[in-house]
Amino acid sequence: MKYDTSVLLILTGGTISMGESPKTGALAPLDKERMLKLIPELEMLPVNVSSVSFDPMIDSSDVEPSFWVKIAETIRDNYDKYDGFVVLHGTDTMAYSASAVSFMFRHLRKPVIFTGAQLPLGVLRSDAKENVMNAIEIAAAKKEGKPIVPEVAVFFEDALMRGNRTTKKSTEFFNAFYSYNYPDLAKSGVHIKYAPVHIMHDETDKPLVVNTKFDNNLVVLTLFPGIRPDVVEMVFRIPKLRAVVLKSFGAGNAPSAPWLYDALKKGTDAGIVVVNVSQCQIGRVEMGLYETSLNLQKAGVLSGYDMTIETAVTKLMHLLGNYVDPQDIMDRMKISLCGEMTV
Ligand code: ASP
Repeated sequence: MKYDTSVLLILTGGTISMGESPKTGALAPLDKERMLKLIPELEMLPVNVSSVSFDPMIDSSDVEPSFWVKIAETIRDNYDKYDGFVVLHGTDTMAYSASAVSFMFRHLRKPVIFTGAQLPLGVLRSDAKENVMNAIEIAAAKKEGKPIVPEVAVFFEDALMRGNRTTKKSTEFFNAFYSYNYPDLAKSGVHIKYAPVHIMHDETDKPLVVNTKFDNNLVVLTLFPGIRPDVVEMVFRIPKLRAVVLKSFGAGNAPSAPWLYDALKKGTDAGIVVVNVSQCQIGRVEMGLYETSLNLQKAGVLSGYDMTIETAVTKLMHLLGNYVDPQDIMDRMKISLCGEMTV
């Protein structure tokens, strides 16, 4: 070990790791050796960088909850050996993975920085190297011997964001991720400027706890003008369904038609947890502000406040995996577990 600080690079796949497949001609992940050869600059960093690779590396559209468990367990198994972790991940579902992993950790005191790229490492104009270099520098950054960002975060283009506040907003531009409802944790320009007031710290001296339980018996239901009663009713009849993320209009509004109230009320009475998340990205759900959200409140629908859809889904999966009683799940949906919403 040449230097005082060590970072583990966890390669999981995504465009960042891809090249043209000899079989299909389409983009598919390369292997670890071919990939790392494309970033000789890693040797120049004043940080010991080691790497592990998932086998196989995948396109993040194939991610499932077991993949989140694998990421968290890799970090747990190497937790004492490294000062920070960088997870290279496909961008398509990175916001889901960063959110899910944030719920799995308690008493995290080291940086876990997710990043990826819009263009593969081997492409001349790629954003990959810049993202990886910044992410490693952030994962290694300390002040008075302590990590500056002991959170699960996403770095992309020039911004470090709390992982469970991010959304992929662009398939085209290099600034593909955005944190609409929480300020950036750092901005990278000539210097990396941290925003300490926005960064969370675990003040206990308890050891890291990794909770790997998930239950995916939930559905996302997007409302639209003209949505049919039988469609909503069918959703609530899905066998084993335990939760619904209801994507509502504006500040949490929905059609005031009695059939919708009836369907929702029947669902919540049967113990299905329904969480109201807005189709708007900026701002929050305020149930009761308009008459068109009063019915939702009366039907027992919970406010998702300013949570992203990615966070609402993964938080519910985490809670459904850990609690049987809907009331226990609802009590925890109402509070922020790790900075994922502002109540
Ligand atoms: N389809 C790719 C993935 O999510 C896209 C990317 O990484 O940018 O794995």
